[in-house]
Amino acid sequence: MPEPEGTASGYDPDAVRAKYLAERDKRLVPGRSEIRDLTRDEDFARYRADPFTPFVDRPPVADEVDVVIVGGGIAGVLAGANLRKAGVEHIRIIDLAGGIGGTWYWNRYPGVMCDVESYIYMPMLEELDYIPTRRYAFGEEIQSHLEAIADRFGLATDALFHTGVTRAEWDEDAARWRIHTDRGDEITTRWYVLAVGILNLMKLPAIPGMEDFAGHSFHTARWDYAYTGGGSHEPLTRLEDKVAGLMGTGATGIQCLPPLAESAKQVYVFQRTPSAVGVRGNRPTDPDFAERLRPGWQRSRMDNFQALMLGKPVELDEVDDGWTHDWAAVQHPPRRKGMSLAEYMQGAEEIDFSIMEAHRRRVEELLTDPATAELLKPYYRYICKRPCFHDEYLQAFNSPNVTLVSCPSGIDRFTDRGPVVDGKQYEVDCVIYGTGFEAELTPLFRRAGHEIVGRGGVTLAEKWSGGAASLFGMMTRGFPNLFVMPAPGQQAVVTVNYTQLAVLGGEFVGGAIGLLEQRGVDVFDVSAEAEEEWTQKIVDSFVDGSAIMSACTPSRLNNEGHPETMNPRNGNYGRGMGDWFGYRDLLEQWLAAGHDGDPLPPAHDAVDRTWSSSPSKVPAASHCSSRSRYPNQSPMPRP
Ligand SMILES: Cc1cc2nc3c(=O)[nH]c(=O)nc-3n(C[C@H](O)[C@H](O)[C@H](O)COP(=O)(O)OP(=O)(O)OC[C@H]3O[C@@H](n4cnc5c(N)ncnc54)[C@H](O)[C@@H]3O)c2cc1C
Repeated sequence: MPEPEGTASGYDPDAVRAKYLAERDKRLVPGRSEIRDLTRDEDFARYRADPFTPFVDRPPVADEVDVVIVGGGIAGVLAGANLRKAGVEHIRIIDLAGGIGGTWYWNRYPGVMCDVESYIYMPMLEELDYIPTRRYAFGEEIQSHLEAIADRFGLATDALFHTGVTRAEWDEDAARWRIHTDRGDEITTRWYVLAVGILNLMKLPAIPGMEDFAGHSFHTARWDYAYTGGGSHEPLTRLEDKVAGLMGTGATGIQCLPPLAESAKQVYVFQRTPSAVGVRGNRPTDPDFAERLRPGWQRSRMDNFQALMLGKPVELDEVDDGWTHDWAAVQHPPRRKGMSLAEYMQGAEEIDFSIMEAHRRRVEELLTDPATAELLKPYYRYICKRPCFHDEYLQAFNSPNVTLVSCPSGIDRFTDRGPVVDGKQYEVDCVIYGTGFEAELTPLFRRAGHEIVGRGGVTLAEKWSGGAASLFGMMTRGFPNLFVMPAPGQQAVVTVNYTQLAVLGGEFVGGAIGLLEQRGVDVFDVSAEAEEEWTQKIVDSFVDGSAIMSACTPSRLNNEGHPETMNPRNGNYGRGMGDWFGYRDLLEQWLAAGHDGDPLPPAHDAVDRTWSSSPSKVPAASHCSSRSRYPNQSPMPRP
């Protein structure tokens, strides 16, 4: 692994810690992280509206399918593709969006691109024989690619877009899920798959007076091109005479500032905490890139990246970017034989410091104004915040029409003319909220946006009120025939490249449902022992990082300054560090055991004729007594 940039020369740990704590304290202001609940706050409902695809009226749908998948993003599309491969016919994707893409449908702001290399982030490149045009692809290319996968596997034709699932309930007698939507649909399905997203709920800050603002405003996940003019790669012509306020300097803010600055008359960038912005090194794909590839290259490249993220030795760093250099270095500081814990922690801190120093130097080198440069320097540990990478963001502050407004303790309030910071009024024509999304700390049952009612009328929210309980983070007892695509903070694994997890989840869902169908299984539920065992594994592997994370500036990674409130049950398998292959192996073994026909005890079958799984056991075909695919076509055997 290459040495991280920067040196630890001049490193005074006490002074560094004191500076970091001072920066944290400026930001630890009660109430400053509060957000509007966009799922309920009808005064702000317009922020959720889809500006991209016209809403078309349609009659409600009432039918029965094999599988309903909620969500048409990467996870939903991969689940669907694998279900098709397993021979499943009637699949209905349902999404609030007006088309396929999920994150990449909604996020169309200028400059949007993936921050993990596109050759490992864009799924199924080999199957679709597609090579991304750039090292880090722009959003529309990713969305088109997801549409291409959906077309290849025939997933879009039966999809219901601009449709929100409002309730899903398990019907024990029919052994079906009944799905209700905001368009009056009533769909019954044998299998139910949740692919509702990890960053699907927009975060809008709760700043006093926001509703009084007389100008225009929108969230970056609903970019309003009708207002700004232009397109994702075209000048935003209607902003030429406008003053824009950009809220937020995380991954989104840094991507959209350069194009915004090129078009708007003036941009005020409101910054709570500066991001650590490393070199992106984006460029068009080398013309000979494809020639060097061998079959299986994408999985192998994903594994190579993952190995580096896990601190495992590799011969060649194939991706060779800021993640594999800096992120990997801070996650896996060198360990020498005989080293004490204190020495190890000290080494980790030094590496972190040297990387952050390199980022701070980069700011100095790229900025012409030293005062602005100082405000853009990140003073916290690299592990405190998801790092960003960009080649043009910092330079945008050299433009005379871009002004940085540092507001570590937040924006005081809004008036009808715009935000007020430290008593100073900023007059703007529009406010663009690049304020991100609720993330993994938001539980699945909230992100899913609908009530999920399992056996005995118990809702998922009730069952998980004290934390998640699952097998592999994908199945939960009392919610038969339900699969959840794996996600961080939900008893699966945490990974920088989400797509690799979604690939795995898609293969598992396709494999498991295919197998259950093949066996003619009506009802599948997780055994209590399997769920307890897995949940205990998650709790046991929880490492309380609050001592380090509480010294961080507030962000979603430390629960806005309160890492001590993190629930070990909502953790990850092996915390995503060091055990990725373990997780994949477990899923593969589980499926393989099913194909080998490892039977469950007959008594179980006799009790409720339900296929109930342990982590290593799957049932034999003998457990699947006659069943009909569609109850209205032939009598449904009752459990
Ligand atoms: C700008 C941006 C860049 C990113 N870049 C990267 C990156 O480089 N690498 C990385 O690993 N991750 C990245 N991410 C994270 C990204 O969210 C994931 O990589 C991935 O796209 C998530 O896919 P998904 O299918 O799980 O969820 P989503 O893409 O969010 O799709 C979920 C869908 O479910 C729908 N839905 C939810 N609830 C309901 C309901 N009740 N009814 C109907 N529909 C519903 C939503 O409308 C949404 O379309 C990025 C995120 C953003 C916002």
